[in-house]
Amino acid sequence: MSRSNVMKPLFYTGAPLDRDEALRRDDGWQRDRLADANSRIFPVWREHNLIAAGDTPAAMALPPDGVLLERADVVVFLGLDEEGRACFAVDISALDEPALPNLAGAARFTTLRRVGALMDRGEGAILATARALVLWHRRHRFCSVCGARAESRDAGHVRACVRPECGALHFPRSDPAVIMLVTQRDGCSDRCLLGRQAKWPKGMMSTLAGFVEPGETLEEAVAREVEEETGIRIARPRYRGSQPWPFPASLMLGFRAEAAAGVELRVNAAELEDARWFSRSEIRDRRSIGLTLPGRDSIARRLIEDWLDEDEGEGKAQSEEAQPCPAW
Ligand SMILES: [Zn+2]
Repeated sequence: MSRSNVMKPLFYTGAPLDRDEALRRDDGWQRDRLADANSRIFPVWREHNLIAAGDTPAAMALPPDGVLLERADVVVFLGLDEEGRACFAVDISALDEPALPNLAGAARFTTLRRVGALMDRGEGAILATARALVLWHRRHRFCSVCGARAESRDAGHVRACVRPECGALHFPRSDPAVIMLVTQRDGCSDRCLLGRQAKWPKGMMSTLAGFVEPGETLEEAVAREVEEETGIRIARPRYRGSQPWPFPASLMLGFRAEAAAGVELRVNAAELEDARWFSRSEIRDRRSIGLTLPGRDSIARRLIEDWLDEDEGEGKAQSEEAQPCPAW
């Protein structure tokens, strides 16, 4: 039995967009598309995306509207959709709530975290991209080299310092963060390590995670974060997959790792409120112990569910030579 080396597609991935980098610098084409009724405008208002009401939440795009575009702080070309229509994100955060486009109850501004897992994956990925780019602009208004104002260029894919003596260019960034499910063989079964931060909802526990620091590899970051947070030393970190996580600007890099034998769990209270080992059956019966898992849209949840789904017989087969296991 072979275990897949590739995760199934994650939420916020696979945006059905041709990003067409060359079109970003074609000012005439950009102007024409912003006047083209077929173009699709995805407004972002204060960290909220526009979501169409209905049984299944859906991304709501508006046709270009002169008033909306005039009021937008920034306009970003996202790319061409599968029908060749130009897609843009616009930041309308400066508007007060009553001034938002009148959508007659057909749509609402909502945080993607609330609805992402319920949406079509491609649509969620477009909204995640729009959110990430708009938030990047909002947080990078000034040049980080000289402090002068920076302005949007290349259809929103670069900000340029306006001071000619400086002229520094700043590009949209994603912050790499490792996120890992650590497991430990316990006789014939195995357990996984979950932790929680004090600010999380009561009962929620998740995989460990942390930002990659300058000068370290992803594997080193996995080992460092796990040891810092729990005292556990790990072996064999294995990359599983990545997920853009625009809350606000992370790129999550998912790993599995095995705990080294003989090291005691020691929770670092400065980082975590709690960390514990859980068996598969404890996680499956989590309601009975008051445990909740991270949202279905997260790679954390996928790492946990992939582990739950692994055939326990496979683990049995692997360890059979080392020690006999009882029948399940
Ligand atoms: Zn500058």
